[in-house]
Amino acid sequence: MTDDRKDMSGWRADTRNIHGAGEMRSSYGETSEALYLTSGYVYPSAQEAANRFTGEAEGYVYSRYANPTVTMFEERMRLLEGAPAAMATSSGMAAVNAVFMSLLKAGDHVLASRALFGASLYLLNVLLPRFGVETTLVDGADLKAWESAMRPETKLVFLETPTNPTLDLVDIGAVAQIARAGDAKLVIDNVFATPVLQKPLELGADIVLYSATKHIDGQGRCLGGIVLGDEDYIGGELMQFCRQTGPSLSPFNAWVMLKGLETLSIRVRQHCENAAKVADFLAGHKAVERVIYPGRDDHPQHDLCVRQMGGVGGPLVSFEVKEGQAAAFDFMNRLDIVKICNNLGDAKSLITHPVTTTHQRLSDEERAKLGITPSLVRLSVGLEDVDDLMEDLDQALGQQGAGSR
Ligand SMILES: *Cc1c(COP(=O)(O)O)cnc(C)c1O
Repeated sequence: MTDDRKDMSGWRADTRNIHGAGEMRSSYGETSEALYLTSGYVYPSAQEAANRFTGEAEGYVYSRYANPTVTMFEERMRLLEGAPAAMATSSGMAAVNAVFMSLLKAGDHVLASRALFGASLYLLNVLLPRFGVETTLVDGADLKAWESAMRPETKLVFLETPTNPTLDLVDIGAVAQIARAGDAKLVIDNVFATPVLQKPLELGADIVLYSATKHIDGQGRCLGGIVLGDEDYIGGELMQFCRQTGPSLSPFNAWVMLKGLETLSIRVRQHCENAAKVADFLAGHKAVERVIYPGRDDHPQHDLCVRQMGGVGGPLVSFEVKEGQAAAFDFMNRLDIVKICNNLGDAKSLITHPVTTTHQRLSDEERAKLGITPSLVRLSVGLEDVDDLMEDLDQALGQQGAGSR
């Protein structure tokens, strides 16, 4: 695959998202990439099978190792991210787990920001300590905290930006310098920014990973994940881990993701344009206490958003509804177009109440530290007509305080 890879460096991102991996077209010349729904591969001879197993001959062996449709998805993502190599996984959490398990051993230390996806927190706080790996969580915006929490045994530094659900930003370039000075690898979960808005590898990160379940699929159909980084790591430790333990992406899901990439950038741009309008609308609404959107200049880290995300605030908006949790529930229940769902990155607008869903497992104290209050809701802004969205939000907010309360 590597040797006859077409040089697409002269093409721009939107072109590569559509034609990347096109050299893998089969002899039938299909325009839409083939779905190789197969677990095994037939060898022309016993010797060829032997040669593939020793690595002397190139070729597929078993779909736990690799599959042509999965390879096409990896290749198109690799081109988009500008990464030397990529490895797909069965979900975003499979990607996070594979990175942790392939890089860490007993006695190592992990430094991470406190505001993380709930399952990633579980890995760091519960699972890794069972295997002798220690974890320290810091406030991601506090660069001094990152610096002073580094230890000689720190092997991995992990963060998300923007964070879920409070949309705080972390300065990737600055944390990259701290990680590098301590010889630790910096890993970025780039889901909330998407590969369209933010390029962690260019900012100094070593590894970037995604839940492809979100904007890469974009229509809420399949689970998937991917890890991108240098060839040594991806083709070495990570590939060994994935081959031996099996968090492989199904070819069907890879095919859906591959097609999703063809429209990723126009979708993300539209999600963000809608989100920016919705954020401004909410900021001016009397039933809204506070709007959090990195693209607005009232966001405390708006400058960093300009430097790191090109000033685009992303596809999510979080906000606090006046009068607490019961009012937030009433508001959500009155929504018509916007659906109540904890997923995100769908063409459909989705809203969730983090305290009672995604962040339910955290203690009150942990939630308070993160700024996750009972009146906070997180809105994944979809691709509907933004005027319809604002009207829907308005009618649901408009009755605020007029009902039983
Ligand atoms: C959804 C998500 C994950 C986990 O991905 P799955 O595909 O659900 O396993 C990890 N990190 C972030 C930021 C996410 O939004």
